[in-house]
Amino acid sequence: ACVISPQAIVDDACASYSTLERINRNVKPALDDLTKTTDFFSHYRVNLFHKKCPFWNDENGMCGNIACAVETLDNEEDIPPIWRASALGKLEGPHARHPGKSVQLDEPRRPLRGGLGEEVGESCVVEYDDECDERDYCVPEDESASSKGDYVSLLRNPERFTGYAGDGAKQVWDAIYRENCFQRSSFPGGSAALGEGTTPKGPAALDFRAVMEAAGRQQVLAEERQHNPLTPFVAKTGLEYEDECLEKRVFYRVISGMHASISTHLCWDFLNQTTGQWQPNLACYVGRLHRHPDRIRNLYFNYALLTRAVAKLGPYLSRRSDYTFCLGEPEQDEVTRSKVLDVAGRAASVPHIFDESLMFKNGEGPSLKEDFRNRFRNVSRLMDCVGCDKCRLWGKLQTAGYGTALKVLFEFDNLDPAKQTDNSAAAPIVLKRTELVALFNTYARLSNSLHAVQQFRRMVEETEAEY
Ligand code: FAD
Repeated sequence: ACVISPQAIVDDACASYSTLERINRNVKPALDDLTKTTDFFSHYRVNLFHKKCPFWNDENGMCGNIACAVETLDNEEDIPPIWRASALGKLEGPHARHPGKSVQLDEPRRPLRGGLGEEVGESCVVEYDDECDERDYCVPEDESASSKGDYVSLLRNPERFTGYAGDGAKQVWDAIYRENCFQRSSFPGGSAALGEGTTPKGPAALDFRAVMEAAGRQQVLAEERQHNPLTPFVAKTGLEYEDECLEKRVFYRVISGMHASISTHLCWDFLNQTTGQWQPNLACYVGRLHRHPDRIRNLYFNYALLTRAVAKLGPYLSRRSDYTFCLGEPEQDEVTRSKVLDVAGRAASVPHIFDESLMFKNGEGPSLKEDFRNRFRNVSRLMDCVGCDKCRLWGKLQTAGYGTALKVLFEFDNLDPAKQTDNSAAAPIVLKRTELVALFNTYARLSNSLHAVQQFRRMVEETEAEY
């Protein structure tokens, strides 16, 4: 068996790029089928419009001016209106409101098609109200909002180039990377400013001058990192390099791998705004990924991590009493269950591709677990600061997907699921619908990214061969 230790760099472990690509060739067809053909996995419930950015004031701070708007290209006025960033970033297709608790209680066992609005003809997209769990790595979507969010078709809103860029996007990425600052210091841009692990109350919690100074330091570090890809896991305190423990490196790799996957998708499904053609953009790939092998490494690392989480979840998903995929339609329920188990079975074909048991064990490891979880929750909150609807949708889905994977890896027993109740001090964990949809769609995003990177690599080789 080939094990990726979280310590290992993916390409120096026995689980090489080619091992992961081989797994992906087996998993991808089943994963595509699951996410593209089932009602359950092709819709996501998300609160996109009713939550304010909790980290800075988007009316009076930078976001109100230029930074958090959907940033446009320099010569935006030369571009036909339908190709402008503001249009590309908008959601498409029907989306419907969550039916609300009272409607669900009134009709407990029937498909709630009517409750989702007439324009949404899907019967497998509703879920019952869910509660928060302190073992969550993500903020449940309904937190601090009366609305339960909208159902959005993921097929109608693919993750691709939107033109969202500039200071607004940079500010969000910088804030995300600052969450890697684990020390409980007074570093102004980190979570300490908000109160560690607490729910930020209201906007404008930060001192902007301090944040921007920190962002400047971060940029210097980012540039240094680019010149030395062998040291990508150094401290993000903004002040100095230092060795970091395993858990902090893993946190960084997850974020960087997610960023790399988003970059891969926007380069792969790129709009040539002169011709109006959607096509791969090789220069985009070379600039953002090919010249940064550490980013590609982190992308593959995330693929291994998600593969392990999905494989580990498989036996739990087969328990019919815990997971229902389509209320009131048993046939549809069975079809979806067999598809999801097919994906989990294929993911399990290489045992323990990622060995999570090494984490939160030695040294300061155990004490870091809560910090790790809280920081990941802050990353998920930061998605409300993304100033482009489609990017926010996929940003929220993917942070929820990684959050779910971490929850499966670190909070689920390593025991036989049938014995979970007997052996657990805490109540057994059952994932919510949104968590399942996010997990499998995030896995599908990574699967697609691996495929795209391989195609891009081939194009680079062909281009080089011509010269
Ligand atoms: P950015 O990608 O903004 O990166 C900023 C800096 O981070 C870089 O200069 C580099 O120093 C560092 N960096 C870059 N990649 C990595 C990495 N993998 N690991 C570590 N450090 C890295 N745009 C779209 O077109 N479609 C989308 O769906 C989309 N979704 C987004 C979702 C989120 C949550 C966010 C914050 C932005 C999204 N964007 C999307 C915008 C996109 O990610 C870029 O920010 C934008 O294209 C500008 O790119 P850039 O070249 O300035 O560098």
